[in-house]
Amino acid sequence: MSLAEAHRISSIDFSRFKRVALCHRPTPIEPMNRLSEHLGGPNLFIKRDDCTGLATGGNKTRKLEFLVGEALSENANMLVTQGAVQSNHVRQTAAAACRFGLKCHAVLERRVPRNDDFYEGSGNVFLDMLFRATFEFRSAGLDMNAEAENAARRLRQEGHRPYFIPGGGSNTTGALGYAACAEEIVDQSAGTGLDFQWLVTATGSAGTQAGLIAGLTSLGHDLPVLGISVRQPRRQQVAVVHGLASDLLKILAGRPMPASKVQVDDGYVGEGYGIPAESTLEAIRLTASLEGILLDPVYSGKGMAGLIGLVRRDFFKPSDNVLFLHTGGSSALFAYIPQIVEAYS
Ligand SMILES: *Cc1c(COP(=O)(O)O)cnc(C)c1O
Repeated sequence: MSLAEAHRISSIDFSRFKRVALCHRPTPIEPMNRLSEHLGGPNLFIKRDDCTGLATGGNKTRKLEFLVGEALSENANMLVTQGAVQSNHVRQTAAAACRFGLKCHAVLERRVPRNDDFYEGSGNVFLDMLFRATFEFRSAGLDMNAEAENAARRLRQEGHRPYFIPGGGSNTTGALGYAACAEEIVDQSAGTGLDFQWLVTATGSAGTQAGLIAGLTSLGHDLPVLGISVRQPRRQQVAVVHGLASDLLKILAGRPMPASKVQVDDGYVGEGYGIPAESTLEAIRLTASLEGILLDPVYSGKGMAGLIGLVRRDFFKPSDNVLFLHTGGSSALFAYIPQIVEAYS
């Protein structure tokens, strides 16, 4: 069924979940005419979740509406979370904490093999400092959610009232934000009569893709959501997205979800998390120079590289309307100035 028809059939009842307002909603859907023309492919559109409005925007803001709602209902006075050093999630969590007069403490993983001043002092880390978040660092490869939970336990013993948020805000509470985004996309489609055949997004900690799939499924819509992995091999990423989507669909609609709904392409990871591949840098440059839109070197740049690669491989029909979800992250560009300057010189 088309998105416009799905709109008339059902809606998701979010009123039973605690939620605060953090996000500029709805974020616009815009055509990318010049990029579409340049690639000679299908009609490309972009959903501007880089414009969610909180501290340079991004996809974690939608998740934080539900996570902070739950934190406040539990009388927390501190948000505790984890991420890579240049985490967009930590930056948005720190900003959300400020909005509600909460403290924020983050455990940062040195997941990317860099410790230069740009990486550890600019971009998101700089903004975390501006929001007065406190942090502690870890070396790569630990169970970071366990590290952050331990930190939360310690902070509780010290007299704080911490609320633990897993990496990327990706549990069922956070993923609700992207079930709500799915409904927003269906509403926008109905409002404009513009139907989409594909939704493409970067996928990392999985809450975004899982929330979108669970949301669309509970609305009775089967718009395929293709995740471009930024880190993990396809099989692992599918398992993580499927697990979370299925848990969320049980909450929303009382039933699990088949794994066949989860589509992931892992061809654009490059050397690893946080290391831009050549295709990432090309995607950033093309999208900037043709559309005036900023992507990032860790997530949305790889997501867009995936979209561009699929167009070039004729994955889509020429008549398709393909919606790219811009998940934000441009603050991290400043942590990658040397690499980007070198690549473009
Ligand atoms: C976190 C993040 C993603 C990935 O979203 P997940 O829900 O973690 O899969 C994509 N893009 C940006 C910019 C992000 O910060």
